[in-house]
Amino acid sequence: LERQVRQAGVVVIGGGPAGSAAAFHLADAGVPVTVVEARAFPRVKVCGEYISPAATYLLEAIVPAEELLRAGARRVEQFVVELQGRRMEWRTPQPAWALSRGTLDGLLLEKAMQKGAAALQPASVRGVTYLDDLVVVRLTDGRSLDAGLVIHADGSGRHDPMGPTRARREMIGHKCHLRPPQGTIRGVTMRSCPGAYVGTIEVEGVLCTCALVARQSLLARFGGDPDAMLSHLWPSFHASWRASEWVASGVPRSGYIRPGHARSLRIGNAAAAVDPVGGEGIGLALWSGTHAARQIAAAVAKDGVLQAKAILEIQRLLARAYRERLRYRLPACGLAAGALVRPRLLGALWPLMRLPSIGIGPWYRLSGKPAV
Ligand SMILES: Cc1cc2nc3c(=O)[nH]c(=O)nc-3n(C[C@H](O)[C@H](O)[C@H](O)COP(=O)(O)OP(=O)(O)OC[C@H]3O[C@@H](n4cnc5c(N)ncnc54)[C@H](O)[C@@H]3O)c2cc1C
Repeated sequence: LERQVRQAGVVVIGGGPAGSAAAFHLADAGVPVTVVEARAFPRVKVCGEYISPAATYLLEAIVPAEELLRAGARRVEQFVVELQGRRMEWRTPQPAWALSRGTLDGLLLEKAMQKGAAALQPASVRGVTYLDDLVVVRLTDGRSLDAGLVIHADGSGRHDPMGPTRARREMIGHKCHLRPPQGTIRGVTMRSCPGAYVGTIEVEGVLCTCALVARQSLLARFGGDPDAMLSHLWPSFHASWRASEWVASGVPRSGYIRPGHARSLRIGNAAAAVDPVGGEGIGLALWSGTHAARQIAAAVAKDGVLQAKAILEIQRLLARAYRERLRYRLPACGLAAGALVRPRLLGALWPLMRLPSIGIGPWYRLSGKPAV
């Protein structure tokens, strides 16, 4: 076994939004950090590619607005819900961002590296050995990294002793990019369908993202063919609009999972996952990466090194902050997902949603988005 020992300080497993946000802020504070990312970028990721307005300040702290615009990101100010031919539309109090994950994740990791983070990519973590004063992160290519702390930002936390988050067995997520006729897709649109919900949004150039969450049984009814299923769920959809292959993934959902070792932290989806309907996953990833990094940087600034006692305190503070963040987001996103896959239930709520004094306001706030 070739052993490459690096005094890596902090090793971050995963270069998604959580891992890159953590690496960016750690490197910015002068804490040595190495990101290990399994995939070469740009890579496709199952995601609706809507970045909640709750995360605007976190995203822009890493990638300034003008750079996002130069990369093709769009500001989204319209929120639309469609229910079997009926349509309701709101102007959201604060604009959100939309950008493909191929571009977004590449930008975030690049920013972390510009700040001084090291990145091993493509390089995949095979396992982590936890010792009292050290963690050894082992890669599939035989190399290993010694670190004082490992941050699990791999979307699941499978290398933390507490084990991976679970996906909802009955649901499956799908995503592809579309090139529909101009004007077909405006703002972020959520379509309510029996057993599924379908989200669309404009991203870079003429590309639109289509992401859907469907019951496995529904997909099975269409022989596992997402085009056939989508044509049924969204009758105006044409398979000829598709600009990319479909990619599928599980749909994780969990409250906060605490790390299973004194030298381990979990962030992003590895720590907790809300139903995708709220468009809060990237926001939670950016928030937790930023929050954890700031705590680590403060501990290093105070003690000169990262002591086990300080990590335990960071774990405690992160757990508390997570529980506060999830208190309303988790049920609000769960309820919205439940209503969207049951059009009859959503139909019953429709008159309330029409009231200007109600609209989507309460849900918008409970799911974490800033009200004005
Ligand atoms: C259908 C669907 C639609 C969604 N739509 C939205 C949306 O519109 N807006 C939103 O905010 N959220 C959405 N989400 C949720 C969002 O995609 C996630 O919350 C977000 O990606 C979590 O970011 P992360 O950084 O924690 O993990 P990830 O984005 O999963 O990144 C983890 C990274 O770790 C890497 N990795 C994994 N294993 C290893 C390993 N062993 N070694 C090295 N690297 C590894 C992966 O390659 C990956 O790059 C959606 C999710 C689904 C399923």
